[in-house]
Amino acid sequence: MTHRDRYAQLVREIEAHNYRYYVLDDASISDAEFDAKMRQLRELEQADPSLITPNSPTQRVGSTPRTGTTRVRHEVRMFSLDNAYSADDVGEFLRRVHSGLPGESVVRLSIEPKLDGGSLEVIYENGELTSASTRGDGEVGEDVTENVRTIRSVPLRIPHTGKITLRGEVLLRRADLETLNEMRIREGDEPFANPRNAAAGSLRMLDAREVSRRRLRIMFYQLVEGATLHDSHSASLKWMAEQGLPTHRLERIVENGDAVAVMAAITDLDHARHSYPYETDGAVIKVDRYKQQELLGFTSKFPRWAVAYKFAAERAKTRLTDIQIQVGRTGALTPVAILEPVELAGTVVSRASLHNSDIVASLDVRIGDIVAIEKAGEIIPQVVAVDVDARTGREKPFKMPDACPECGGPVTTKLRDAERPDLGNEATARCINRSCPAQIKAQIHYFSRRFAMDISDLGLVLVDQLVESKLVRDVADLYTLTRDQIASLERMGEKSAQNVIDAIAKSRSRSLGRLICGLGIPQIGQVAAKQLAEAAETLDKLVTWQESETREQVGGIFGFGPKMVDSVAQFLGDPTHHELLKKLAKLSVSTPEPRAEVATTGPLSGMSVCVTGVLSKKREDVHAEIRAAGGLVHESVKKGTTLLVAGEKTGKTKLDQAAKFGARVIDEKELEKLLSGENS
Ligand code: AMP
Ligand code: ZN
Repeated sequence: MTHRDRYAQLVREIEAHNYRYYVLDDASISDAEFDAKMRQLRELEQADPSLITPNSPTQRVGSTPRTGTTRVRHEVRMFSLDNAYSADDVGEFLRRVHSGLPGESVVRLSIEPKLDGGSLEVIYENGELTSASTRGDGEVGEDVTENVRTIRSVPLRIPHTGKITLRGEVLLRRADLETLNEMRIREGDEPFANPRNAAAGSLRMLDAREVSRRRLRIMFYQLVEGATLHDSHSASLKWMAEQGLPTHRLERIVENGDAVAVMAAITDLDHARHSYPYETDGAVIKVDRYKQQELLGFTSKFPRWAVAYKFAAERAKTRLTDIQIQVGRTGALTPVAILEPVELAGTVVSRASLHNSDIVASLDVRIGDIVAIEKAGEIIPQVVAVDVDARTGREKPFKMPDACPECGGPVTTKLRDAERPDLGNEATARCINRSCPAQIKAQIHYFSRRFAMDISDLGLVLVDQLVESKLVRDVADLYTLTRDQIASLERMGEKSAQNVIDAIAKSRSRSLGRLICGLGIPQIGQVAAKQLAEAAETLDKLVTWQESETREQVGGIFGFGPKMVDSVAQFLGDPTHHELLKKLAKLSVSTPEPRAEVATTGPLSGMSVCVTGVLSKKREDVHAEIRAAGGLVHESVKKGTTLLVAGEKTGKTKLDQAAKFGARVIDEKELEKLLSGENS
């Protein structure tokens, strides 16, 4: 056997084990045996790197962090579903289906769980996974191929070699979401409210390695391109399972049923849903035969051949014994309801979120009240109502404290500009003491998180000690710590102190995007932080930005709305933050943000292009063409812009700026010439 054959066989074995483990839930070998096989595979690849393809099982762990975000146009629009909430709604749907299919005597329906996650499109060509994208606005989604490769229930290869496009739901199992949320709470992060947010948030992460740790799953529910292989949806589902693709296989088939028969199937699914390892929030009713689906067609928003029936949220009643206050990273005080433990939708609940004092006030919830709780999207319980009739008169009204429970500092609900210009003027109760230890601790945790500066040796207890001993007052202080200072803390040996120092030193070379992300600017997540870092290039430059330059630069970033621009301008304009950034710059923390990859050859390579005004095509498409031709796209004209593509109704400001920065102004026709490589 040649080494190539051996390699191919090993790949097949590993994929078969993955399939049994992740799709069938039936492990065929031990973890240790599996690891040994992976090790062998890695050795073969090391010996002959030409064996490695993006679809090798070793590449699932996400060896290359994604750079930037690419958009993908769906060949067939990804629709959402019309909703039904009652038997009457279901009856109405059935009447519309029947009147839309006059000549058809038999209408078969498939009734299946509505999986609660994020929708995804996956394409296989020549038997290989080639693309995965999110729904986005239905027409254009985001490319998440690298991240999806890390999901082990997704086969990287399938036997069928024709091109197929699948739709499915990315989700987390209940147990995996609980583990993830526990970890987030420990690390000072908001837990995900539901599997949908967790799945969607995870898919958009920049670091595929982090994605691979989240144990995402996929369940495919629709075959789009390639559906002509079969004559019905249920036949496609069956075929997909035969291809090794994870599908729910929980469909109930109802032939020529009325609303009563369909509701019976829905109730059946509702009762069974707590026994599934993942959350479902409804049932989807679909006309099964493709021919009939085609006859019914689509409205502008929904398919006429399907409807989503939403299950009612489950409620429980219990006594609220206390309301505690949590102090977050920005000083926001969050009231948390402490409850007498009660079972709700399969778990025991003893805490529930009350979000903010407005909600407490509007519910008029008092300590000692009997309250109704519901799970929002099934995971985080919330107090939704108070049983006023059950009151004894001994219940105590709740008032937000005037002083921070952590530092005793003043609490403000309406921020005045002078107090915390970085936080805007939202009406949240906050501790405005900048030296509040609870806030500093939370900021340092956040800064050291894996997706930010990734200082894993900085554990929770150590951060508490560092802040309480006043060795660290802000994140920059981390970089001036000495080994002896750390070793002087309780339970800290010389060796672990050195490890901490090494880990902090190592984090100096993280990219500017990670640093910005770690600052926790409101509204600015990982992707936005990276974009902001690309605009600034280095921390030294970012520190020199004045308000007007910040607004101009940030306003020009793709996808940044006015709220985000305000948030960044307020944050950077705040003197304390400005000092902090200067301090970090002086300590040489962070390295310049690597530029997102663009085609380096092409007629527009090296050009920096801004597109404005009304064009004959969608702006997004023009951007994509420019990028494909090697050009960089910017939303505004600034220093270094080489071309301004001016469509109809181009504003005077843009033209003035083009003149100011020496950008050449061209129209759409001229752009087309340039794109096609004609010199002009
Ligand atoms: P909505 O987002 O509420 O409009 O619901 C439509 C979404 O439900 C689709 O985009 C899918 O992501 C999701 N969905 C979950 N389970 C299914 C299923 N079994 N069939 C079709 N769509 C599903
Ligand atoms: Zn405080």
